[in-house]
Amino acid sequence: MIDDPDDVTVVNVALGSRAYDILVGDGLLAQAGKLLAPLLARPRVVVVTDETVAGLHLATLGEALDSAAIRHQAIVLPPGETTKDVHHLGDLLDGLLDREVERSDTVVAMGGGVIGDVAGFAASILRRGVGLVHLPTTLLAQVDSAIGGKTGINTCHGKNLVGSFHQPRLVVADRAVLDTLPERDLRAGYAEIVKYGLLGDADFFAWLEQHGAGVIAGDTRARHTAVATACRAKAEVVATDERETGTRAVLNLGHTFAHAVEAETGYNERLLHGEAVAIGMVMAFEMSARLGLCAASDVARVRHHLSAVGLPTSPSEAGLAGWNTARLIDHMRQDKKVRDGKLTFVLVRGIGQAFVSREVDADDVLAVLEGALAA
Ligand code: NAD
Ligand code: MG
Repeated sequence: MIDDPDDVTVVNVALGSRAYDILVGDGLLAQAGKLLAPLLARPRVVVVTDETVAGLHLATLGEALDSAAIRHQAIVLPPGETTKDVHHLGDLLDGLLDREVERSDTVVAMGGGVIGDVAGFAASILRRGVGLVHLPTTLLAQVDSAIGGKTGINTCHGKNLVGSFHQPRLVVADRAVLDTLPERDLRAGYAEIVKYGLLGDADFFAWLEQHGAGVIAGDTRARHTAVATACRAKAEVVATDERETGTRAVLNLGHTFAHAVEAETGYNERLLHGEAVAIGMVMAFEMSARLGLCAASDVARVRHHLSAVGLPTSPSEAGLAGWNTARLIDHMRQDKKVRDGKLTFVLVRGIGQAFVSREVDADDVLAVLEGALAA
């Protein structure tokens, strides 16, 4: 399972005519010109990024593009979740048109999931679809949001309610850019890495129990292996069910609970998405144990590992208490994964054995929520 950190690991997302590679390695941003050149109809790109990432990494990308004689302009958006709205999308679309982006051109999204989602959505609707390359700069974006083609923005009705499927042509995950990422964001991204072990790969989870602290602390070999393994896991699920008509939904392990908790905190730095996912995964395991599907010892292992790497495992641990469970259930009903009014949950038969259930009883949800809030 160990990937050589001195090499570039190539993970192919096998989607036929829309297939693409994810490159995982060190210093890849500085080679972006060479990596992008073969994909471009003409040697020019527009880079979409946020102010924080621009300050840290845009110069490196610019030099890389210069060295491959690729002309480039940048559109720099404000950082943060509020950028994923219809106003910023509108400005971005006009910005791309001002820069005369043509149908055969490529938009380069350099940033975390926010930039990937809004720039990806813009690329999918601009001139009915232009090319897209992701240069993910957060751990979460490298292992999750840059892969699989989901794009979108939020509205006052909720998160990611407007969007599209638009696969990138290439994803470049450079380990070096993670060196500037705050530790709290690293940890939050790490929760999504744990998710892949919990949903489908017990050996990977066991490996993370040994090496997770190293992944967060920046141990080169551990981080490279974790990112590459997570990318392979997501690529495999996406290739079997691109549009989430079935199995792709297992990627939402912990997410029904997480979204309810995030909706209550208002999607801000009080609780990062990955932190909510950590709490949600514990609840999904609790629910599964309650239904007699998995052993209590599995729940304990999950809780223990997430705590050991400094992630919250209950709302109170995240400094959130005194919530009304009925409101949390209401938030779950707003979730777009509701079908015919039934809540969708990803449950487990043990570590590494997730499945989608649409038959969960509201009383059990309530009991698990009450347990979590009392924890
Ligand atoms: P983010 O994009 O807001 O990035 C987090 C913060 O880190 C931002 O302030 C950003 O400016 C900063 N940052 C980014 N890279 C940095 C770097 N290398 N060094 C220093 N700072 C850096 O958040 P995120 O956690 O990457 O992504 C969350 C978003 O992703 C949410 O909107 C979520 O809905 C979306 N998402 C989408 C998918 C999908 O499949 N499309 C999957 C998961 C999450
Ligand atoms: Mg997630």
